[in-house]
Amino acid sequence: MQEFRADLHCHTTCSDGTLTPNEVIQLAVSSGLSGLSITDHDSIDAYPEALEAGKKAGIEVISGVEFSTVHMGVNIHLLAYSFSLNAPEIQHLCAEHHKRRENRIKEMLFLLKKKGFEISEEDIYSTRNSKRGIGRPHLAKAMVEKGYVKDINEAFKKFLGEDKDCYASGKSHSAEETIEIIHKAKGFAILAHPHLIDNTAVLKNLLETPLDGIECYYARFSESQNKRWLSIAENKNLLKLGGSDFHGSVKPKIFLGCSWVPQDTFSILRNRFQENQA
Ligand code: AMP
Ligand code: FE
Ligand code: FE
Ligand code: ZN
Repeated sequence: MQEFRADLHCHTTCSDGTLTPNEVIQLAVSSGLSGLSITDHDSIDAYPEALEAGKKAGIEVISGVEFSTVHMGVNIHLLAYSFSLNAPEIQHLCAEHHKRRENRIKEMLFLLKKKGFEISEEDIYSTRNSKRGIGRPHLAKAMVEKGYVKDINEAFKKFLGEDKDCYASGKSHSAEETIEIIHKAKGFAILAHPHLIDNTAVLKNLLETPLDGIECYYARFSESQNKRWLSIAENKNLLKLGGSDFHGSVKPKIFLGCSWVPQDTFSILRNRFQENQA
């Protein structure tokens, strides 16, 4: 029998991924995955479609989302799993983020205009089904299409990165506040990709918050690079989770299922998800 593998981190067109929820589910099955959580940025919009597609395709799908937070002035992503999709706390936080995202895109379009880059809201939204889930990668793509930069990476490096002139965060939510909301919804709160946090003071402080786990296996990081996070999680008795952070063709080197967790880990999340649905 094929080994059970579950990818706990991926994105769809409901945020900045390029495949629809149904397409991600079909790809998960053809990639040999047995379990999946879709973790769009600040959105659970993928779920009605993903759950139905998962049921039909015979893959176990559990709730997930990747929340944007700010901790000690630094952008930090927190993953949440296993909450009920009807949990008002999660729905409310996602709704606040949708408003934040719409407003900050306006702000960033204004900052880009000051630099001579003419991009309209129509340019950003016309290729999407919904105004929801909009983010910097959509702005970067518009900049490439208009010939203002050669690729998405250049757009981030010169203009859209956190420390660049055209960046706006909008009204932020703290990591502590976000963890509290996830816990109210009986979900698990997980520190996403600590591999990417280079500020040791921020990291140390984050590990003192009431997290339930760490994303130890991440994208294409190697076993030796993941070791550090596995050992911290082990010492603190935290869940050791992981996933690919698949986004589709915007990050072509990251394949769905390139990081994953085994069945016993997935069962902990799935059991809580089922309890929360009951
Ligand atoms: P936002 O949530 O709107 O602030 O956008 C953040 C997202 O932009 C991240 O989750 C990545 O998917 C993407 N991103 C960040 N930096 C880069 C980069 N240098 N190149 C491509 N995509 C990036
Ligand atoms: Fe993203
Ligand atoms: Fe992230
Ligand atoms: Zn992600």
